[in-house]
Amino acid sequence: MPAKNPTSGSLFMVVAPSGAGKSTLVNALLKQEPEIKLSISYTTRPPRPGEEHGREYYFTTADDFLKRQAEGEFLEWAEVHGNYYGTSRLMIADQISNGTDVLLEIDWQGAQQVKKQFSNAIGIFILPPSIAALEERLKKRGQDEPHVITRRILAAGGEIAHSPEFEYVIINQEFAVALSELTAIVKAARCRFPQQAARNTFLFTQLGIHASS
Ligand code: GDP
Ligand code: ADP
Ligand code: 5GP
Repeated sequence: MPAKNPTSGSLFMVVAPSGAGKSTLVNALLKQEPEIKLSISYTTRPPRPGEEHGREYYFTTADDFLKRQAEGEFLEWAEVHGNYYGTSRLMIADQISNGTDVLLEIDWQGAQQVKKQFSNAIGIFILPPSIAALEERLKKRGQDEPHVITRRILAAGGEIAHSPEFEYVIINQEFAVALSELTAIVKAARCRFPQQAARNTFLFTQLGIHASS
């Protein structure tokens, strides 16, 4: 099947080892750019204190997840740190073709699957300044059991090994710097010719521009 390349909205995939600051960066980006739609994944991981069904994730059982997976509900899915995670395909294609930017917070395995289906999806990998910093952040966040933190730290090297597969890489040392870089990537993506042409058809026609996309 040929890769679909919707030309109005942009599809962003933000990937990082656990604790690199992915969710904090994405939440700060969404405050600045509220029109970006964050995809809410399904997961079999138990909710952390303060997490709400339908806000951070749709929390579900392994049986329910595998049923949805068998029915083809997921655009991508993966087993990460012993739990299943998946992106429902329902809203994604519609939103992008309607001109909405969509952001996925997924792991590298999911990013590979999405790229096969949407070849112009933009992959952004968030690196921590060091593995020690990653460990410290996970401990400070204080939301995972010690054995879960250990498992995530041990997985980080393998995840980071996939960072060269991504178009963009951000080092989240100084939070403000990392956030400005993420914002810059989003703004640049919106200025790609096909996205601008799709959003400004009237102007482009008036100016006599005939995009060949
Ligand atoms: P975090 O690493 O602290 O954000 O912990 P989470 O438990 O929220 O996420 C665990 C991993 O699952 C991360 O790598 C996420 O990016 C990944 N993940 C979350 N949702 C999805 C999804 O829908 N699909 C895939 N493939 N990965 C996901
Ligand atoms: P992820 O979603 O990648 O697992 P989080 O966004 O939950 O990571 O961030 C992990 C922890 O690190 C949080 O407690 C967050 O406040 C903190 N954090 C995020 N970015 C930075 C940074 N640049 N410097 C120090 N701490 C950070
Ligand atoms: P956490 O359990 O800390 O919320 O997430 C752990 C990892 O799972 C993170 O690296 C996160 O990016 C990944 N993850 C979350 N949702 C999805 C998803 O829908 N698909 C995939 N492939 N990974 C996900």
